[in-house]
Amino acid sequence: MSPIRLLARLLLPVACPCGELDVPWCTACAALLAGPPVRAEQGAPRLDRLDGVPPVPVWTLTPYAGPVRDVVVHWKDRGRADLDRLLAPALRRAAARLAPVLSPALDSASVDGPPVDGAPVAVVPVPSTGAARRARGREPVAVLARAVAGGLHDAGMPARVVPALARRGPGRDQVGLGARARGRNLSGSVRMTRRGARALGQRSICILVDDVLTTGATLAAVEQALEEYGHDVLGATVLAATPPPAAAGADRRTPAAEHERESARNLKV
Ligand SMILES: [Zn+2]
Repeated sequence: MSPIRLLARLLLPVACPCGELDVPWCTACAALLAGPPVRAEQGAPRLDRLDGVPPVPVWTLTPYAGPVRDVVVHWKDRGRADLDRLLAPALRRAAARLAPVLSPALDSASVDGPPVDGAPVAVVPVPSTGAARRARGREPVAVLARAVAGGLHDAGMPARVVPALARRGPGRDQVGLGARARGRNLSGSVRMTRRGARALGQRSICILVDDVLTTGATLAAVEQALEEYGHDVLGATVLAATPPPAAAGADRRTPAAEHERESARNLKV
């Protein structure tokens, strides 16, 4: 190793969150996030609405497992904001691929109910708690929302980011709560901000954006908050989704397990 490279490494140690040295992110981790986006709502028990309406479609770039976990945790909570440059373009490309899938639903939403007047799709980031925002000093999901709006726009679908929602009150920490307790903890915990209500107008078509889909309780609360104000939620996009229990227990290295997991995760777009 050249002295200058050694010195650089001592001064500015750089590594992919998976441990690969000398690169901010490695090609293997980047490949995991390269898509195509796949449907993930079947693995999220708390998205179930119990009113006969199917759960909101959620598209994910990848399962929340293995090195992807490290990437997301370092990006969100360990000061690796530089990973924006990996994650935002990956989600932007995925959103561009989703635009043609979302288009028919957008068209039918326009004839079914009050007119949306060709208004841009509202890309709504799932709000983090005040405590999380203060601890991180920024709102990482806002970066993802901008990427999704950019990707839809790239594919010819006008879109704008509308951070319309906020968490209501401090809320209990989700850590250590079971799926049902999480749902109870979150229900009614999301509120529309006055600015958000103004920005969304009388009726907007919304796409939700979050970093990780776990139980779906947060997305369900966000969907509910928007619907209460007369808006329609077409779908949601996330970076990663917790695999359904059957897939999580399988050995992911075998092609059979891979195939089983793929089937469990529903259709590719
Ligand atoms: Zn890596």
